[in-house]
Amino acid sequence: MKTKICVKCKKSKPFGQFNTNAALVDGLTIYCKACISSGYTYGSKTWQRAMLNNVKTRASRKKIPCDVSAIRELLADPPVLCPALGIKLTAGSHGHQGPASTSATIDQRVAGKGYVEGNMDIIAQRANRIKTDATTAEIRAVAEWVAIVELL
Ligand SMILES: [Zn+2]
Repeated sequence: MKTKICVKCKKSKPFGQFNTNAALVDGLTIYCKACISSGYTYGSKTWQRAMLNNVKTRASRKKIPCDVSAIRELLADPPVLCPALGIKLTAGSHGHQGPASTSATIDQRVAGKGYVEGNMDIIAQRANRIKTDATTAEIRAVAEWVAIVELL
């Protein structure tokens, strides 16, 4: 049986597990059917919809402003790299282990001000977690302390 490696899940799968696309070299899509149906390719329409829904849910739970058209605009042109950490952003897994550290999240510049124009950035989950609840001074203090203990 002929197989091909899916670019997304990196698994070797039989040809039947890929959609056909005559425009491509071997006539098959680069992602397997399972990966395409999961739809969570970074930047894809499905990803954009999922991200928007997540943010809407979060905003209504926290009762903070949520400007849907501003969010749509932000998601339509997401950055390749996390502006904070410079790592390549991904759509993340939607398995039980929660989002990967590289998965894109929408961060509020000022927490509580809401998901509105000028208060949002797409950053990696990891950067978001580091930033959570900490002030600039606290992040600096911790970074300096880590740099010192690394030398010990
Ligand atoms: Zn796949």
